Amino acid sequence: MARAFPTVASIAVRVTQLGSDSPERVFRTGELGATIDCTDPLCDGGGFHIRGLVEEMVRKREKTREEMATCLGNERLPGRGKRPGRVRGHCTRIYRVRIDVKYRSYPG
Ligand SMILES: [Zn+2]
Repeated sequence: MARAFPTVASIAVRVTQLGSDSPERVFRTGELGATIDCTDPLCDGGGFHIRGLVEEMVRKREKTREEMATCLGNERLPGRGKRPGRVRGHCTRIYRVRIDVKYRSYPG
C-alpha cells in the first residue's frame, strides 16, 4: 500500500478488539492491505476496510486518527466436512483502530 502514497514515510495501524483482552495487533506499512481481518474463527468474509481511512488521512495530512470499526462479516456455524455451516448472524465484533501516519519531510 505504501507505494500508492509517495508523501508517506510510514504507516502504523494498531487494532484491538473492543471488550476483549486479546493482544493488540500492529500492522506496519508493508503489511497493510485494503482490509484488516477479523480474528473470530467463525467469522466469514469478516474484517473492515482500512485503505479508505488511510487515503482520507493522507489527503488531509492527518497524523493520527482513532476510529471504531465494525466487522463486516457474518458469523457462520461450523459446517460438516467441507460444507460451510449456517449463518448465525452478523459478526458482532467491534475494533478500536489507531492509525499513525508519518510523512516525508522535504528539505526547504
Ligand atoms: Zn468478524
